Amino acid sequence: MRRLPIYFVLDVSESMVGENLKKLDDGINSIIRTLRQDPYALETVHVGVIAFAGKARTIVPLIEVASFYPPKLPIGSGTSLGRALFHLMAELDKSVDKTTLEHKGDWKPIIYLITDGKPTDSVSSAVAKWKSDYANRATLIAIALGRFADTGVLKQLTEHALILENTTDEDFKLFYSWITDSVKSQSKSVSDIPSDDANLAKLDETILSLVKDTMDFRKVDPDYVILTGRCQRTRLPYLMKYERNTQQVKHQDFSMVATNYTISGCYPLGEEYFEWSDTGNGQLKVNTSELLGTPGCPHCGNISAFAICACGGIMCLNGLGTAVCPWCEKEVTFSIGSGDDEGFDVNRAQG
Ligand SMILES: [Zn+2]
Ligand SMILES: [Zn+2]
Repeated sequence: MRRLPIYFVLDVSESMVGENLKKLDDGINSIIRTLRQDPYALETVHVGVIAFAGKARTIVPLIEVASFYPPKLPIGSGTSLGRALFHLMAELDKSVDKTTLEHKGDWKPIIYLITDGKPTDSVSSAVAKWKSDYANRATLIAIALGRFADTGVLKQLTEHALILENTTDEDFKLFYSWITDSVKSQSKSVSDIPSDDANLAKLDETILSLVKDTMDFRKVDPDYVILTGRCQRTRLPYLMKYERNTQQVKHQDFSMVATNYTISGCYPLGEEYFEWSDTGNGQLKVNTSELLGTPGCPHCGNISAFAICACGGIMCLNGLGTAVCPWCEKEVTFSIGSGDDEGFDVNRAQG
């Protein structure tokens, strides 16, 4: 039996925390559920999942649809697209059965690469290798989620570079049914008229459009700030997400635009967060005076998840006094601040 390998290569960087990660989870579930009811897909489709943040790993090795069990998606720091591509190429070499003169191997694999950010590693050698050695052996569909993804690099990779500009529930639903329809039509077509040509479902251009012009690639900051903290008691990490507010402030003599960020969620993570993270290049700063709202610790219930040690690490705290910093292991004493409102800079995540 010739298999039709379908890979999902998913960006699980910090910016995906919360709603988007849940939508990705739900999406994979709904795609698999529908494929399980399709006789052609059941017979030919095998699904694999690769996740990438700072690191890239296979979280579900290629497996038939009937036996696929949806994975728990991790979260990590960084968007190492270069690493993800090298990992994908190694995975294809390892898992996909090649066609030779004497032997018919698997059908041409189809890869859905989904990202919402800009690469934080170097991608040029991975892109060059993909184009010279893999682009004709696999169909790559690269999808930019939202307005802040680097569509330019996706367009370099493949002619099938798409953007899902709005990420409402309804848009996501249509997006996943487009993927499902494409997989179904491909599995039917390899059964009917054996051919490796990709059969993608028709695009609804109001939802998902081809990346045509990347001149308007946005270099501005995204609409959020994400900070990584660590629970003092459990030592486990968490992410605090702040969303941008822009207000027009009008006075008698002048008007100005004020920007700040309001807390929108605080998400507990497991220790594996560090295994998925790229350490050492998180030098983006934000001033605390721009951040509104302090969540409680999602792990231990301490009233504040936002105490900062002299080492720069963010930790949870339950009032003033002495605590051991879970980042640098030193004892810190928190006392009432000097009362000025200038704030100070803290490290923000790379997104
Ligand atoms: Zn805590
Ligand atoms: Zn510290």
